[in-house]
Amino acid sequence: MDVGFIGLGQMGKAIAANLVRAGHHVRVWNRSPASAQALVELGAQRVPDPAAALHAEVLLSMLADDAAHREVLLDERLFARANRGLIYVNLATVSVAFTRELAQAARQHGVDYVAAPVFGRPEVAAAAKLNIVAAGDPTTLRRLEPLFAAIAQRVWPVGTEPERANAVKLAGNFMIASALETMGEAAALAQAHGVAAGDFLNILNSTLFASPVYQTYGRLIAEKHYEPAGFTLTLGLKDVRLALEAADAARVPMPFAGVLRDHFLEALATGRPERDWSALAELALRHAGLE
Ligand code: NAP
Repeated sequence: MDVGFIGLGQMGKAIAANLVRAGHHVRVWNRSPASAQALVELGAQRVPDPAAALHAEVLLSMLADDAAHREVLLDERLFARANRGLIYVNLATVSVAFTRELAQAARQHGVDYVAAPVFGRPEVAAAAKLNIVAAGDPTTLRRLEPLFAAIAQRVWPVGTEPERANAVKLAGNFMIASALETMGEAAALAQAHGVAAGDFLNILNSTLFASPVYQTYGRLIAEKHYEPAGFTLTLGLKDVRLALEAADAARVPMPFAGVLRDHFLEALATGRPERDWSALAELALRHAGLE
């Protein structure tokens, strides 16, 4: 298929590369142009601005947050310049409220909006093993199958209203952040009684909690391997805030999300924001005087 791709950060780069490898014609744009170089060498076409990426059947984007989408898509009135019938696939983790606004702006110009946030870190994206939570018109989702097959192990449709997919993604990231916090606190307890964090996490994550999230992050926490980050503390705070906003709008109390927000703030205030979000676990050690 003929596709445009906007946003070549850690995730976007890996996803766009898999689309090129699968034989799709991919026009790529990134704010910092150097990120497109490796993709051009792979066969992608670099375009000078986001509008040039619109000359395609499908536009995908993987930008950081609501503000980046507002700047690139809404402030530049990008949808107004799109061909009617363009499919726009937003792969990023953005807020429920902003998804409604963006989908509405797309529809006004005859652009078909699909929310397709993903689960999986950059190495999972590179291996084309993402899990995509998709919401949009079912016929459109079927048309997107060749693209999704090139980047994901499975697509999980959750209905036609795009914001549903974002609610699922934010609820999922809240669960991951909660796991980071509990692993940090539990490992601090074990360490305070003479058992190394790595030994403790190995027991639990090989048995009762043998699952991708616990095993991947348990290793990072045990090895204190927080840089280079797969997903930064800054993005982690963004997602906990977005979960709280979505919860607030629907009157869903999430008291533990409030604790996580404060712990992310503390981690950012006292350490480097570019560290992986699993560095949240370090706070528990510090609070226990174990650092
Ligand atoms: P990243 O490496 O920080 O990349 C962010 C991208 O957004 C870059 O292309 C950046 O351009 C662009 N950007 C930021 N602000 C911009 C602006 N104002 N105008 C234009 N472009 C802007 O982040 P990432 O890890 O790839 O994450 C991207 C999205 O995927 C986020 O929504 C994140 O929550 C989600 N996600 C991440 C993971 C993960 O494990 N990393 C997993 C699932 C979902 P520059 O290169 O010019 O800075």
